[in-house]
Amino acid sequence: MLEVAEALAEVLRHTTSLAPVTVPLGPAVLGRVLGAGVVADRDSPPFAKSLRDGYAVRTVDCTGQPHLQLVAEIPAGLVPSKTIGPGECARIFTGAPIPDGADAVVMQEETTPENGGRIQITDTSVRLGQYIFPRGTEMRAGEVVISAGTVINPAAIGVLAGVGRAQVLVSPCPRVTVLATGDELVDVSCEPGPGQIRNSNGPMLAAQATQAGAVVHDRGIVRDDVAELRARIGEALADSDVILLAGGVSAGTYDLVPGVLQELGVEPRFHRVRMKPGKPLFFGTKGAVLVFGLPGNPVSGFVCFELFVRPALRVLAGNTDPGPRIVQVPLAEAVAESNDRPTYRPAKLEPAEGGWVVRPLTWAGAPDLRGIQPADALIALPAGDARLDRGMPVSVVLL
Ligand code: AMP
Ligand code: MG
Repeated sequence: MLEVAEALAEVLRHTTSLAPVTVPLGPAVLGRVLGAGVVADRDSPPFAKSLRDGYAVRTVDCTGQPHLQLVAEIPAGLVPSKTIGPGECARIFTGAPIPDGADAVVMQEETTPENGGRIQITDTSVRLGQYIFPRGTEMRAGEVVISAGTVINPAAIGVLAGVGRAQVLVSPCPRVTVLATGDELVDVSCEPGPGQIRNSNGPMLAAQATQAGAVVHDRGIVRDDVAELRARIGEALADSDVILLAGGVSAGTYDLVPGVLQELGVEPRFHRVRMKPGKPLFFGTKGAVLVFGLPGNPVSGFVCFELFVRPALRVLAGNTDPGPRIVQVPLAEAVAESNDRPTYRPAKLEPAEGGWVVRPLTWAGAPDLRGIQPADALIALPAGDARLDRGMPVSVVLL
């Protein structure tokens, strides 16, 4: 039986980033990883521009609250044709190019328009270059403005638009198939009969994978039947990067998944991890396809997804840091428990005086999905007797 860290390393050893694809620039590329560095096609700003509505002036003319002659008006989008000579100024607006001859902008609030097209400058300390954003301040033509490997955030989308990238090379969204196995399962839309329960794992895992940036195909429920499992998993192997099977991986008579996977040519990489919940986790590969057999108990499936599947999806999607993100957070209440395996306790982060604390959620064990629904963290407790006082720092996996 592998330790959690060994199992994660084994998953990542078989996980390679998918080849980048070219897609239109838009909100759909949010969170995806840029496949190649992007270079500025021109200087930005492409011309020295005004940062204020006001008047473009020559600094040397501006001592002693002078009266300047207005010779031009330059709105944003216009190219000024007139050079500003001694004693002259131009009306200018934010974003408009600075005319030749001018070397500063005076805000309109610090001027008084007079009759005869004259403007009195009441700003008594005009500095060379004031309210001018020089050409190329933000970026120079040919400069790499966003490097390969950057996770695209809204500002990156703005920068990419600014340099004219209507199409961008990004990591593709991994294709994930979700299959829930079990004779007791019925679809969310059904009234369960005697002995039946609704399939909660399928929709939950589909949502976790969607949140992780995957394109998800939830293929519903598969009976505990070798022929049906073989057919449905076989289909999924043909068009998925990752297959998430829920249930059927424990040691019971009806836990048929590992056997069927082997028949289909899926190479088993590990089965069982020293952790709680989630011990029966199965992982195998067929070619580049990653196959996870997640335990059927919903909390076990949830935790296994966060610890193993999400990191694999991050790597497939081009991220160099697979996670999970682990931080030290003080406990909001004491924890005293004995575990035969390293244990992941669903928990909730809370703001407190001077930072954050983490509070374990009360739950009735691995089937109790309702109890852990508010969780935004997992407290990682080592095997053995854990007696931790309130305020003591613990390792926390951020969800
Ligand atoms: P298994 O891993 O198939 O032995 O299932 C373990 C437990 O999880 C059993 O109580 C199942 O009924 C339950 N379970 C399995 N699959 C699901 C599912 N998709 N949704 C909710 N509960 C499930
Ligand atoms: Mg089952």
